[in-house]
Amino acid sequence: MRIIDHYIAGQSVASGTRHSDIFDPNSGKVQARVTLGDAATLDQAVVAARAAQPGWAATNPQRRARVMFAFKALVEAEIDDLARILSSEHGKVLADSRGDIQRGLEVIEFCCGIPHVLKGEFTHGAGPGIDIWSMRQPVGIGAGITPFNFPAMIPMWMAGVAIATGNAFILKPSERDPTLPVRLGELFRQAGLPDGVFSVVNGDKEMVDAILDHPDIAAVSFVGSSDVAHYISSKGWANGKRVQAMGGAKNHGVVMPDADLDQVVRDLAGAAFGSAGERCMALPVVVPVGADTADRLRDKLLPAIAALRIGVSTDPDADYGPVVTAAHKARIESYIDMGVAEGAELVVDGRGFTLQGHEGGFFVGPTLFDQVTPAMQSYREEIFGPVLQIVRADDFEAALKLCSDHQYGNGVAIFTRNGHAAREFAARVNVGMVGVNVPIPVPVAYHSFGGWKRSAFGDIGQHGMEGVQFWTKRKTVTGRWPDGGVGDTGSAFVIPTMA
Ligand code: NAD
Repeated sequence: MRIIDHYIAGQSVASGTRHSDIFDPNSGKVQARVTLGDAATLDQAVVAARAAQPGWAATNPQRRARVMFAFKALVEAEIDDLARILSSEHGKVLADSRGDIQRGLEVIEFCCGIPHVLKGEFTHGAGPGIDIWSMRQPVGIGAGITPFNFPAMIPMWMAGVAIATGNAFILKPSERDPTLPVRLGELFRQAGLPDGVFSVVNGDKEMVDAILDHPDIAAVSFVGSSDVAHYISSKGWANGKRVQAMGGAKNHGVVMPDADLDQVVRDLAGAAFGSAGERCMALPVVVPVGADTADRLRDKLLPAIAALRIGVSTDPDADYGPVVTAAHKARIESYIDMGVAEGAELVVDGRGFTLQGHEGGFFVGPTLFDQVTPAMQSYREEIFGPVLQIVRADDFEAALKLCSDHQYGNGVAIFTRNGHAAREFAARVNVGMVGVNVPIPVPVAYHSFGGWKRSAFGDIGQHGMEGVQFWTKRKTVTGRWPDGGVGDTGSAFVIPTMA
């Protein structure tokens, strides 16, 4: 059986006595085992990081950027192999895995421009002979804890910016699909990154707690479910660390009566069912405004759902593949049971779906509910599967309130031809990332990503300038050079002002 070990200081390291199974979601069989590390494993990565980080921080930003350029070229050269690795553990189809890697690379592209971004600010003559400048310095050693659903993109969101800004970075990927993150470590090394600047430690809660308790780790970036995000932010802050923790989601798409419904249906099919709904920016709730819009939308959705092709992740014609584990399949199906018990109308039932020839695979059929109400638990909670819920709203204000009142506030979309409605919606909705006729409004790499409410704890987003802010500390220097050097200007007993 293949064993996936840690990647520390440029080497594969076996450390830890516990293991966890990695499944092939297409067949349901165990295909590998990952070694779950402990505090001693983490210590090895921290020792390597401590040794490497000062030299890396002192490497000029242009040279650091060159490593990013080289890494990007290496990943691009083997993107098809990487996508195969990713799909084989996650279950998403190959084209979607390439997209996962490409979105990560776009953050690496942003990091190629890090010298420009780190130039700092300067004021000449802020007072007599006084200049002020600010610089951004790395936090030191940072850690990233990532979810199963984007095993390439999310590690690259964090590692790219953390490393480009001069930190050492320790990644703790999901124990469900860790092979690709370990491969990223090897590629960083090939790109010229000094050993110890990027390490991967595998593990579960024990490793996460070791990270949160380690005194040498200054910053922790987390992406995963909300209860864990809340735990990590509370414990991390209590231990004096800088923390950003992105959580779960339940994104709504509001459909106004004037929307192009054929386009909306095409958008919804991809956004609700793509990647089997295992995306934090999926669109699992659609809110048609007015009964007529709802009825027309439902009529158009039915054939689109019937046409969806579910297949193994290597099937080039499949729209989506299996979900990640049997436990996750059971969880999704239990939410469908719950929706039925709560009185929602089950229009398309994806429970009990099997793919011929792959009966052991973790497949879930597309599911559509209508007449879902805000009081239902199956609406309030994240399902994270190929389940679309229709929640009907009487008018624009009711739809806006529905999106704004939900406990999650990651993404939201409005579909309309009315510029005023779109503008009002974007300004007033209580959600962090808004799409106008864009179903999955994930900001590009040079903007920042992050939701509101229970979708994010901490107020600094991933990548873009907020990512740079997270992984660096601002230092402001006020210098005085009076005529003839630093002379005696006497004592000042009141606070200096610019008056
Ligand atoms: P998860 O919370 O189960 O796991 C995420 C990470 O936390 C993993 O590395 C895991 O090992 C660790 N972990 C799990 N349980 C833990 C515990 N009790 N204590 C400490 N650490 C623990 O999430 P997942 O199932 O891997 O990923 C899916 C979730 O991630 C969904 O809720 C999804 O919405 C969310 N997500 C959010 C974003 C975002 O940016 N907001 C992006 C992607 C995924």
